[in-house]
Amino acid sequence: MQKEKITEVLNTIKEYDRIIIFRHFRPDGDAVGSTKGLARILKLSFPNKDIRVVNNDYSEYLAFTGGEDSVPDEEFYKSALAIVVDTATASRVSDPLYKTCDKVIKIDHHIPVDSYGDVNWEDATKSSASEMIAEFYYACQDELKIDSEAAEYIYLGMVTDSGRFRYESVNGDTMRYAGMLLDQGINTELLYANLYMKDFGLYRFEAYVYSHMKITESGVAYIYIDEKLQKKFGLSTEDASTAVSYMDAIKGSLIWMAFIENGDGTTRVRLRSRFVTVNKLAEKYSGGGHACAAGATVHSKAEARKLIKEADAHLKEYKETHEGWL
Ligand code: AMP
Repeated sequence: MQKEKITEVLNTIKEYDRIIIFRHFRPDGDAVGSTKGLARILKLSFPNKDIRVVNNDYSEYLAFTGGEDSVPDEEFYKSALAIVVDTATASRVSDPLYKTCDKVIKIDHHIPVDSYGDVNWEDATKSSASEMIAEFYYACQDELKIDSEAAEYIYLGMVTDSGRFRYESVNGDTMRYAGMLLDQGINTELLYANLYMKDFGLYRFEAYVYSHMKITESGVAYIYIDEKLQKKFGLSTEDASTAVSYMDAIKGSLIWMAFIENGDGTTRVRLRSRFVTVNKLAEKYSGGGHACAAGATVHSKAEARKLIKEADAHLKEYKETHEGWL
């Protein structure tokens, strides 16, 4: 546990009457859960502070978590403490105005490449930023309060970012924190219903992915979802982006990727892998992320083909030099 960092974070929070909590663009369950969970803990613990969660971007599939706070005026930003959670680089913060805040705390679990905070609590060993918020509460529980609402947000972030507690980054502490949160009384049935239930049309799209995905010689599975197809199935970009998760257990395929056209000439790439890493590959294509879950951007089909070719060579080399990858 990074006790000193956690104390520094708590002491900085105590110094401010106004706090704005930010996260990254295109928020996922962890970004939403960690920010809302932290906000709820701080509201319960410091009822006299004005605490807001403010962002410019939101994800429809997480609408069940409720809305966020309205954007405060310039003066509020200037006098506030910014806490940016789950966001590796300054350019990915979903509200660039966070920079105008008096002080910035960064709380993140990605590999540190940009320590943009005045206080940086970075811990890449954690399976989610939400787990860091759980740890923050656990370490400071003499001074902080929690309830089932805060626990539900944080638990949402933990289950979604850890592949339902499946990833390698999950350890005993992850489960102990999860247990601590469950003790608050989380409605897990409702939570999982919200996470798993899909529209009828999305199943049709899933079937499309299974029948059109391709695999390279060395085992890189991929699918390209252009704008036309998104229209045909009536998909939001977020819906289309789920394609990557359908390909996650093909024998021999240790890398799988989905290319999703954004509608502005760029194509989002979601890269996933097991055993072999993909973050370095993503970094070559304006991206980054975790060892086995990363994102990138390409600007043409030719660039997409180049990335697939590189991924294939990378996987070939991995398979030739490693054993036990199934
Ligand atoms: P995604 O496929 O968007 O869920 O991304 C997987 C992981 O990679 C997440 O942890 C993201 O924070 C990270 N990531 C995605 N896109 C980028 C990017 N363009 N630059 C840096 N990190 C990224």
